[in-house]
Amino acid sequence: MDPPAAARVSNLPGNGASRVREILRLLDQDRDLPTLSPVVEKVLQRVKDERVSIRELAEIIKNDVSLSFKILKVVNSAFYGFPRKISTLTQAMVILGLSAVKNLALSMSILEIFVQEASRGKDGKGFRVFWERSLFSAVAARRLALLMKHRNEEEVFIAALLQDIGTLLLIKHLPEDYAEVMEKAQRSASDIVALEEDAFGINHAVLGEFLANKWRLPRTLTIPILRHHNPSPTPDSLEPEEQHIHQLTQLVQLSNQISAIFYEEYRSDRVEQLKQSARTHFNISPQEIEDLLDHLADEVKEVAEFFGLPLEGTQSYSELLMAANIALGKINLTYEQMNRELIAAKKRAEELSEQLAEANRKLQEMANVDGLTQIFNRRVFQNLITREFYRSHRYGHPLSCIMIDLDHFKHVNDSEGHLVGDQVLREVAALLHGSLRKTDFLARYGGEEFVVILPEAENKAAATLAEKLRRAVEAHPFDIEGRTIHVTISLGVATYSREMPVTSEEELVQRADANLYLAKRYGRNRTWTEDDSQQLRERLAEPAEATQNEPLPT
Ligand code: GH3
Ligand code: MG
Ligand code: MG
Repeated sequence: MDPPAAARVSNLPGNGASRVREILRLLDQDRDLPTLSPVVEKVLQRVKDERVSIRELAEIIKNDVSLSFKILKVVNSAFYGFPRKISTLTQAMVILGLSAVKNLALSMSILEIFVQEASRGKDGKGFRVFWERSLFSAVAARRLALLMKHRNEEEVFIAALLQDIGTLLLIKHLPEDYAEVMEKAQRSASDIVALEEDAFGINHAVLGEFLANKWRLPRTLTIPILRHHNPSPTPDSLEPEEQHIHQLTQLVQLSNQISAIFYEEYRSDRVEQLKQSARTHFNISPQEIEDLLDHLADEVKEVAEFFGLPLEGTQSYSELLMAANIALGKINLTYEQMNRELIAAKKRAEELSEQLAEANRKLQEMANVDGLTQIFNRRVFQNLITREFYRSHRYGHPLSCIMIDLDHFKHVNDSEGHLVGDQVLREVAALLHGSLRKTDFLARYGGEEFVVILPEAENKAAATLAEKLRRAVEAHPFDIEGRTIHVTISLGVATYSREMPVTSEEELVQRADANLYLAKRYGRNRTWTEDDSQQLRERLAEPAEATQNEPLPT
């Protein structure tokens, strides 16, 4: 026999402590307490006897016609979903099991108390929210039990339904104080247990356990009620009975986490915590939890109907609250999901556009740049020379062009190999490129031929630059596997200017090419300009004896 409640809880602090002492006295004296239906009490007593028969229990329950009717109604509802109609209590007990029917009877009785108190009390609304939330937790717990394949989901249902039974006493006897505590809990999002202890020096879990003991409920119910706000780690080894109680307690705690999502201020982290606990303790997946949350409100409505509970239309406060929180939860979940997806999509898009930009750059390069030397190719040169010639023509500015060819390059290839030839071509291109102004264009004209476009450059300036290029190549030591070789270039310069009119860009290029030919012809490793041609012409025009054995123009 338990010691009196008042004796077990002494020196209560808190403002409402004196009134809580009054509740404890009522508990001790068995006065003004919610009571179970006598039929259910008898059932609870008889099932403690292992030898109790199904027929005996059925006979007891049949004494309460309304209870019998309700049980049959529930076992035939979609809540159980049996394909065949169950028409007698005996049949129900055979099919569902004795324990299930006992728990069903107990649930009925508890729900009846809830509804009665709600209709009797001054603050019907507070009661209503209380029992609706209790039912909510119970349905959630039953769903969890089914997901984890618990062997007795009715027991889980009733344990969850009873977890806040202590609150019933507080609402009943201290309605105003408790309303204040509830409000505070909503506002501050603080733990309800801490707020209750602050105000009354006792919490609803302890009070609930007192009442459950009063009803002589088994330990499988009283312990989860007492501990449903004290999550404790699973001990290493427990007796099977204690293990079973511990698991029940965890399921009840989880069901409280679920109803908190709907009945307390919505916080997205509650859902995450719930998913984590469900996975850790019962190996229930986050997806299963999401499905459960999605269908819970509908299932509660169904169950309330099956149990014949007066769930009012959509007007009830708790339903509004529920709807609001469900909507909020959905919005938040969807928003979080959307956010995640947006971030992922954005990242994908960024990666794609980077790849695209890179591919475009490559394509562009492939179209414009010579693969070996990384300078402009001949196609680009053609566009550039056309554009520059047009500009020069239009603005009357000079334009020069230098054609360049490597001297005896065939020899380099022949003696050093083609790969070394390639390396030389690359280095020459780099050398030429490094010696030019930013406004000049260098292109590979073909094979070992390069071309330079010099906008705004008079013939003299172009000739000077050509010599600079020639000397740069001539002076450059090409390192071939530790050995040094030297190569030279020949250059032909042509200019479009007022003094040197040409009719087209083609003619300009042809002249540069012709001068390159003369540079080769007259010695290689040299620059040939229009001036050189002029000088040559003048010498060729002189009397034969004068030009005979004459050295070539330098
Ligand atoms: P010249 O002084 O008269 O210009 O003599 P050359 O040997 O340079 O002239 P020719 O036109 O007879 O030979 C050019 C050589 O350049 C032949 C060809 O194999 C080589 N060549 C052209 N393009 C490339 C290339 O991309 N890589 C390599 N390694 N060699 C090339
Ligand atoms: Mg050559
Ligand atoms: Mg050549």
